[in-house]
Amino acid sequence: MAGISTTFNKNFARYLFSWLSAVNFFVMKELLKKLIQADSTLNKGELATAEVIRKHFEKNGIESELSNWDGNRANVVAHIKSTGEKSGLLFACHLDVVPPGEQQWKYPPFSATEEDGKIYGRGATDMKGSTAALITAIVDLVKSGVDLKGDIIFAATAGEETDSCGVHKFVSEYKDKLPELAGVIVAEPTDFKVITTHRGIFWLEVITKGRTAHGSRPDTGINAINSMRQFLDEAQKYDFGRIEHPKLGKCSMSINAVNAGEAINVVPDRCSAKIDIRTVPGIENRQILDKFEEIFAVLKAKNKDFDAEVSVVRNVPALETDNECDFVKQICSAIGAIETTAVGYGTDGPFFAELGYPIVICGVCDNSTCHQPDEFVEFNELKKGVEVYKKIIANFSQTDKHSV
Ligand SMILES: [Zn+2]
Repeated sequence: MAGISTTFNKNFARYLFSWLSAVNFFVMKELLKKLIQADSTLNKGELATAEVIRKHFEKNGIESELSNWDGNRANVVAHIKSTGEKSGLLFACHLDVVPPGEQQWKYPPFSATEEDGKIYGRGATDMKGSTAALITAIVDLVKSGVDLKGDIIFAATAGEETDSCGVHKFVSEYKDKLPELAGVIVAEPTDFKVITTHRGIFWLEVITKGRTAHGSRPDTGINAINSMRQFLDEAQKYDFGRIEHPKLGKCSMSINAVNAGEAINVVPDRCSAKIDIRTVPGIENRQILDKFEEIFAVLKAKNKDFDAEVSVVRNVPALETDNECDFVKQICSAIGAIETTAVGYGTDGPFFAELGYPIVICGVCDNSTCHQPDEFVEFNELKKGVEVYKKIIANFSQTDKHSV
């Protein structure tokens, strides 16, 4: 009899678990759709998306703090307290998305259309899908009544795609309020590869200045486009001092926008070039600026009319977390990763360095449709993601009373 009763209980528990999971996944899908529908491109800001998250946490009995500035910019942060016996974990997401672009989408970018197990929309993978899975994992754990031994902090911030304003605000506001942490997990879509190294972003604008003149008398003016051409010819020879990173290779430089001239019959007095430099650990940004100034000086020595200046548009440092540190090893063992990864793109990750803890980039979904038309996420991937996030949390916050 005891055997039959145990079997019945096991079957019932299994049935109950699968029913609860189905409910949770339905809720996660609805959450993801609301996140996508809350357009968080730069013009619209992140407030609507932050509100979706705040309300979702509130509905599930979790308090969160929404901070709002400049009208529609926003961060939202939830701090789940524990017994405090272990170090906490900070999970970081970004709320903003890139614009849908000029190309026609099959599914409208903010409709969150569902088809064949996929949810389409801007931000589906980068990174509202990962965010929905992470929130679901956190809510599930809290609702299960598990006694966490380490705090969980969830921070969703503004402006990752543009100026990282949200992460700067978060770090300055929360630096002194956070518990001791084991580390920071930036939950960008990496298909659960553990990224510990990535290149930095160093965007520069060079402006050359000249003097306008009638197009029929160019000798009486100073053509800013000519000056820019001279500068760009020299800049493209720059090899960043041959600094080469064992995993990331060399820095790269791409001149991605040049603007000058107002009329076909006027010699232009201003030319601007926007330059996208991706740096590797080991190079100081100051070295690059010094090199540009050196080129200006050489060109000015050859031609006294040459006049140029350089300004920094964006500066995201490179990331290089020690692969041998306990935090990285524990993340790898929690998710079964045998090695860490280095990538060429940048994230907000390095800005958390000020907190003084190791940082990894690791989240659900592959990023192959990021920033593209008809961006989508496979819903089954998000389901798996919920379990992986729970495993990571369990690994850092084991409890004796329940299993997670
Ligand atoms: Zn992203």
